Amino acid sequence: MRPDDIGGVHIKYLYHCRRQLWLYARGVRPEHLNSAVQLGEAVHDTSYQRSSPVDLGAARLDHLDGGQWVHEVKSSARPTPADEAQAIHYCYRLHQVGVPAHGAILHYPKTRRTKKIVYGGPEADRAQQDIAEALAILTADRPAQRLSRSACRGCSFLDYCWSD
Ligand code: SF4
Repeated sequence: MRPDDIGGVHIKYLYHCRRQLWLYARGVRPEHLNSAVQLGEAVHDTSYQRSSPVDLGAARLDHLDGGQWVHEVKSSARPTPADEAQAIHYCYRLHQVGVPAHGAILHYPKTRRTKKIVYGGPEADRAQQDIAEALAILTADRPAQRLSRSACRGCSFLDYCWSD
């Protein structure tokens, strides 16, 4: 796996759970069984029907507006570190292909909140560090330890990690 193969989902899992990143990289895909993921897809579909996703290979973002701001719609109620890292990752990928994204605006339709993230040098450094970290985790021989049971609540990989 190369740095260019790391996409937004890898970055999301890097921040949510390193074990999840490792499982995902090995083709484990239980998302379709999980109602939280289905809700996320429904919120996404009804919130941005008129915009076009931008395909950057491994990364696929919801929308890039004419002012070069990335827009991402989230199903959760408030911003998380994973959301922010993912948005920064998309800006980094856009800069790599010559699109000077100014930053990202995260949309939370459930609570009608938005969060603006300005992209600059520190964010670019963070994106590079995240990619390096994700590569180190998903090329390891063994998965990281489970999170605590309470931290796993709602995770779509619950059956894989807690079947014993
Ligand atoms: S169930 Fe818990 S340990 Fe397993 S991938 Fe999900 S969050 Fe990580």
